[in-house]
Amino acid sequence: MALGVVVAEREIEGGVVPGGDGAEDERRRPRQSGDDLVRDHGDDDQGDDENEEKPVEKARRVRSTRRLSGFPDLPVLPVEDRTIGRAFTDEKTGKLKPCLFVVPTDAEGFEAKSIPMEIVSPELQFQVFIDDVRLPADALVGDEDAGLVQLFAGLNPERIMAASFSTGLARYALDKATAYVKEREVWGTPIGAHQGLAHPLAQSKIEIELARLMTQKASALYEAGDDMAAGEAANMAKYAAAEAACDAADRAVQAHGGNGITQEYGVAGLLVAARAGRIAPVSREMILNFVGMHSLGLPKSY
Ligand SMILES: Cc1cc2nc3c(=O)[nH]c(=O)nc-3n(C[C@H](O)[C@H](O)[C@H](O)COP(=O)(O)OP(=O)(O)OC[C@H]3O[C@@H](n4cnc5c(N)ncnc54)[C@H](O)[C@@H]3O)c2cc1C
Repeated sequence: MALGVVVAEREIEGGVVPGGDGAEDERRRPRQSGDDLVRDHGDDDQGDDENEEKPVEKARRVRSTRRLSGFPDLPVLPVEDRTIGRAFTDEKTGKLKPCLFVVPTDAEGFEAKSIPMEIVSPELQFQVFIDDVRLPADALVGDEDAGLVQLFAGLNPERIMAASFSTGLARYALDKATAYVKEREVWGTPIGAHQGLAHPLAQSKIEIELARLMTQKASALYEAGDDMAAGEAANMAKYAAAEAACDAADRAVQAHGGNGITQEYGVAGLLVAARAGRIAPVSREMILNFVGMHSLGLPKSY
């Protein structure tokens, strides 16, 4: 999951700001030159949708700086020396409206607390606190009024990347399991000769290939610019891939018997990583909500 999240943050950044490599400074423009935002604490900007993040700031335009305050606890990953902050306010309506900001991680008022995770991964997860952080005038990414569109532009590739992460993990687990059951002999027969072991692994092979196919479909639709169809396919791919990964990891542990729990064979650790694919970047339940509502036309359930 961790890799997916790194790429996802990159993908959102890269999708909004082509390159995401420093060239963004030239492309980030405040909507009106000289107009900037100040965000202060306030209680009067609560959105009316119970399920949305509650804003705890309000915005008004002043000159020179942007100040961000009162973000809800939001796990984000600092990327090098900056991260993407998301504001949730609309000065006209008082309703929620995401905006994207590049926030230097050494900015005063910015604090990132590492979250101890059970996932073994090269990068860390953080809980981020943003308290009255002053940002330069051009910290806004893209357009203030298009924040949601910009955010959504990153969601499909994020889900496609998450699906790819899960199918990659699933293939790794299946490869390890297959190699083991070919090698391991009990009573003179490789244990892979028994259908009780072979069938679950064959099932995983089928589930992984199906998930990969849907991931490729989502990628093709995204590349073709069909965002609506890509959204449906990306959600389905991410769901199928996470399920395939969870099953493959579990079957790999089982195929290894007692060795499946040892560090030496390195498969038990896949369980948590595979499980994360069911939760992030979007939970399986929210995908089922999406499919129920958008693919089946059922009433919104949340
Ligand atoms: C490794 C990792 C990295 C992450 N990185 C980031 C990041 O970079 N940026 C970021 O913003 N977030 C990140 N997250 C957060 C992630 O997006 C959320 O954990 C995820 O979206 C689930 O939200 P939640 O944890 O608030 O769960 P909740 O919304 O509290 O849900 C808890 C459980 O209830 C279920 N549930 C909730 N509502 C419904 C419903 N209506 N119907 C049925 N079931 C429901 C959920 O599916 C879930 O199983 C990361 C999470 C992990 C694990």
